[in-house]
Amino acid sequence: MAHSVSRRSRRGFLKETLGTVWTSAALMEQAFFRATAANAQATGGLPSLFDISKVAEGVYSALAKPVTLLNSNAAIFELSNELLIVDSHSKPSAVVALVAQLKREVTPKPVRYIVNSHFHWDHAQGNGAYRKLAPRADIIATEATRKLLSEEAPKRLKESLDQTAQALEAARKKLVSAATAEEKAYYQRAVRESSEYLAEMRATPIDLPNVTLTQDFIIHDRMHDLHLSFRGRAHTAGDVVVHCPRKRVVATGDMLHGFLPYLGDSFPLEWPRTLLSVAQLDFDRVIGGHGLVQNNKDVLYMKARYVEELAEAVATGRRAGKSAAQLGSELTPDKLKSLTGAYMEYLGGNLMKFQVQEYGAKAADVIRGAVQLNVAHAWARLS
Ligand SMILES: [Zn+2]
Repeated sequence: MAHSVSRRSRRGFLKETLGTVWTSAALMEQAFFRATAANAQATGGLPSLFDISKVAEGVYSALAKPVTLLNSNAAIFELSNELLIVDSHSKPSAVVALVAQLKREVTPKPVRYIVNSHFHWDHAQGNGAYRKLAPRADIIATEATRKLLSEEAPKRLKESLDQTAQALEAARKKLVSAATAEEKAYYQRAVRESSEYLAEMRATPIDLPNVTLTQDFIIHDRMHDLHLSFRGRAHTAGDVVVHCPRKRVVATGDMLHGFLPYLGDSFPLEWPRTLLSVAQLDFDRVIGGHGLVQNNKDVLYMKARYVEELAEAVATGRRAGKSAAQLGSELTPDKLKSLTGAYMEYLGGNLMKFQVQEYGAKAADVIRGAVQLNVAHAWARLS
């Protein structure tokens, strides 16, 4: 009985989610929505994955709600007749959920441009959904990002599927021994979301951008111009920023976001300089790839100081013959001046609000672990 009730309400939810879309959507788009909805229904329903807010006139942020497997924010720039959306999230169904929510809450305008801020899985694995939802839309990235997507992404997807399968097994075991209702709910969710990701991504190839830039790309529109630019290597070899000078907003992907940076594919000694080049642009608000919208340039400068201090400390340690492990245990957060005060507080808030952490983890532990990983990655990337 309970089963049939939940199925009915799920169908009702889907109808509500997608209902407004049917009238304006093209046939192909409808078919794709239906297929995704049917899949979502089979695995538990199309979830509401974003909080969408207006950042400036015609510019919106879609902040990714926390899920077991990280999802990315989107930045949405309205043009006179269409939309440009920065990043395509971790999976096609996230794109479908976003587009449906945009139609419900923001505008019926179709998607014309998608920008992959960089090649990481949680920013580009949904490209295929845009190819189906908006077959004439262009997917834009730097030449370096396209190359990294074509060379690295399939291998990384396979690794992520293997890791997720292992995490799923671990979560299933922990679910059995969960002591409280809260802990049980936590692992039930981990099992559900990991299973859904595996089911969806096992059958999903990665679509590449069809338009690339090496330096600049400007979209001229009556509403406002959008400037895409590569300003130097930072989080990856190909980070692009999207700047709207008239509305004073910039979208920065993972070069500048609310979490501690990920350095695994980074250029630690160049990253601070690239951030300072972004700071030269005229803007008040930043829509990053994860976490809160930033309302000034404070986080940019704090992040630049952190990456600079960490990279220099690791480079100095390396020259003195210290191993990554040795440096990892030495460079704890309290040893880094750039991590005290406002930045530490800001990071803690973002991490606990936007990222699902290990059950029972505290912000300070999460940051300590992330810094240790940053040290290991910086050490490897400086070699
Ligand atoms: Zn990234």
